[in-house]
Amino acid sequence: MITNEEKRKLVFKVVTTILATLLPLSALRVLLIHGNLTFMLFIKEMLFSIVFGFIVVLILYMTTKKEIKEINSKARNYAFRDALTGLYNRHYLNDFLAKFKRLHKKESIFAVAFIDIDKFKEINDTLGHEAGDCILRCLALKLKSLTRSTDILCRYGGEEFVIIYNDTSKKEMFEKMEQIRESIQNSSFECEHTNITISIGLSFGKKEDDINEILQEADKALYMAKNAGRNCVKIFLK
Ligand code: GH3
Ligand code: MG
Ligand code: MG
Repeated sequence: MITNEEKRKLVFKVVTTILATLLPLSALRVLLIHGNLTFMLFIKEMLFSIVFGFIVVLILYMTTKKEIKEINSKARNYAFRDALTGLYNRHYLNDFLAKFKRLHKKESIFAVAFIDIDKFKEINDTLGHEAGDCILRCLALKLKSLTRSTDILCRYGGEEFVIIYNDTSKKEMFEKMEQIRESIQNSSFECEHTNITISIGLSFGKKEDDINEILQEADKALYMAKNAGRNCVKIFLK
């Protein structure tokens, strides 16, 4: 994926290469056509070559624009999507966190939920890694169906997922997390007809808060949920 800075560098490279090629070529054309190299003839030839070169580059750009867009979007998918579940990955989350302060201008509360499958190692050990992968895919689908398109849902790593909610309230959020936890507990995944449970850590932030700190707090709340016996939701209290 090309960043704007890389794009600028690439354009600069293309333009300097074209100019560096046109310069001696123009001089050669003047010599071949007119026999002697005068300043005015050279400038005339150079201007003609620049316009011609510009038209060629423009045609090339117009005809390959769609392909460039497709390649960029594929690269974005590779970089920001998790291959197993299709959800956003940690790279995407890091990118989002870096931009969050600038994007989040609202006075409303945002929430970070850290979700972790309970005793997943045991599930892998008894049912096998493939069944484990299947559970991760099913859970990802289920979480996607339980979140809005405006929420940021990503696979943080292993069997851990993170959801960031904008415009929410503590009460609404706790109820939502309980609903997700219960829904997962009651779902029978097709993979070997297994039931799983999840633990959730929740933390809240305001506009002026550092979202990375809120993420760490949600992680701490998740540990509280694990210590409380798993299959529950805990909120980080400041
Ligand atoms: P806890 O309830 O404390 O979270 O226990 P746990 O067993 O879920 O936690 P632990 O961190 O000990 O184990 C996580 C397991 O997740 C270990 C690893 O084998 C499994 N895992 C991580 N990524 C993948 C994956 O992509 N596919 C599969 N099948 N398993 C994975
Ligand atoms: Mg874990
Ligand atoms: Mg776990």
